[in-house]
Amino acid sequence: MLRQISKAIQQKARFATAAAPAPHTNPEILYTGLFINNEWVKSSDGKTFQTENPATGKVIADVQQASKADVDRAVKAAKDAFKFGSPWRKMDASERGVLINKLADLIERDRTYLASLETLDNGKPYAAAYYGDLAGVVKNLRYYAGWADKNHGMVLPADGPYHAYTRHEPVGVCGQIIPWNFPLLMAAWKLGPALAAGCTIVMKPAEQTPLTALYIAQLIKEAGFPEGVVNMLPGFGDAGAALVDHPDVDKIAFTGSTEVGKLIQRGAAGTVKRITLELGGKSPNIIFGDVDLEKAVETAHFALFYNMGQCCTAGSRTFVHESIYDKFVELAGERAKRRVVGDPFKPTTEQGPQIDAEQHSKILGLIESGKKQGARLVTGGGKASDVGYFVEPTVFSNVQDDMDIAKTEIFGPVQQILKFKSMDEVVERANNTEYGLAAAIFTKDLDTANYMVQRLRAGTVWVNDYNAFTNQVPFGGFKQSGVGRENGPYGIKNYTEVKAVVTRITEKTS
Ligand code: NAP
Ligand code: MG
Repeated sequence: MLRQISKAIQQKARFATAAAPAPHTNPEILYTGLFINNEWVKSSDGKTFQTENPATGKVIADVQQASKADVDRAVKAAKDAFKFGSPWRKMDASERGVLINKLADLIERDRTYLASLETLDNGKPYAAAYYGDLAGVVKNLRYYAGWADKNHGMVLPADGPYHAYTRHEPVGVCGQIIPWNFPLLMAAWKLGPALAAGCTIVMKPAEQTPLTALYIAQLIKEAGFPEGVVNMLPGFGDAGAALVDHPDVDKIAFTGSTEVGKLIQRGAAGTVKRITLELGGKSPNIIFGDVDLEKAVETAHFALFYNMGQCCTAGSRTFVHESIYDKFVELAGERAKRRVVGDPFKPTTEQGPQIDAEQHSKILGLIESGKKQGARLVTGGGKASDVGYFVEPTVFSNVQDDMDIAKTEIFGPVQQILKFKSMDEVVERANNTEYGLAAAIFTKDLDTANYMVQRLRAGTVWVNDYNAFTNQVPFGGFKQSGVGRENGPYGIKNYTEVKAVVTRITEKTS
């Protein structure tokens, strides 16, 4: 979800993939096992699960399903790889950076294949996978490759006869639990800083989208990472929970729902694990009356509908000033009606299917609640196809703050447009949520922007843009949207333990 995503969607993805190589519409599935100690193995209990193509509902492949016993095996591998004196621990920090860059090279080499596999398993338009996710993955890894030999401590002017300094040491074995909305990008956001810091990893991709993470595991081996440094365990929530409970796991990094985030926070308390949690949101996108209306409508559309609305940052409460409200609603409805829904491999497609049957029915249920609770349905409002999990681009106006669609994270292509009169009122309403992930303000007035930036309780505030991500800038949530930050210098801190070293200096005369 980088800056280039908005470029892609706004400039290229809607029309053509002119600069992108043709996708593999039927990519070969090469890896379906568990990846432990740089080897492909089967699950201990012989269990497998099916991953499906959400555009058709058809099974793509049977994948090995990790159980607690497999988590034990993988954690042991990661623990051994982290042992003092191991090849990974002895490796120069700069060499870790070289390996991470090598991994980025291999991903670039296989970018078309990986973007195609992501589209098949997740349903996102190929153009978005190619221009957005894959570009973001490579850039993120390269950013953290550069950090590997720059994550250093400092010398401190301690009181007394002491030489004092800090060492930045890797936190240890990290359990990384990934969601299905940006499978590869979220994997990269976790792998890059952890590897740069010198940690070892057991990663669990989401059960809906294991395939690209498994392919990446093979590239990790090809890049030359020592065995056990990265282990990949496809499976379900029970495997994630086993990681959280495991006494030899030092840290959990999780992206997903607030509900599971709470379980992880509780579970991690048992062994006082470090945690970073990137959770849900219900982000306000606040549009004042002085904006370029057409640009604001387009950006608000992108803010909500990108990735089928399956973004933790989705601008799902569009607050519009009363002076432009009616016109904004009309244009937003027209834009959503023009949104091209269909086969994600087609270059003209803007919107593919939702991830699975469960999300599909959850979203349709919330749309029904909006209709029942008195919001005005401007466009859409139902499923878009009998095959696969497609939902019509849906816009509601006259949305009130206490409606379910204004409070619940819908994670689907459903835009809520709310009316506001004054700055004080909209700040109060925007902050009146348990979440605090992102917010945006659209205005030409610098004073309005500065004042709003200070008052909004969110981990990211965009001014005159939305979903403007870059790897240098931290990302994470206030309140129930999370703990800790990913990306930027803050991201690597979350994989670092600070060791203080204090040496007594004894006076000596020769
Ligand atoms: P989820 O359950 O939070 O899944 C995220 C990851 O956590 C998956 O890998 C999942 O495994 C794993 N997991 C599930 N239960 C676990 C447990 N007890 N301990 C450790 N790990 C566990 O999300 P979801 O059910 O797929 O989606 C539900 C809602 O979450 C969505 O409607 C959306 O609102 C929100 N969501 C938010 C984000 C985000 O980026 N913030 C991403 C995805 C979903 P399984 O694959 O087996 O579930
Ligand atoms: Mg789940």
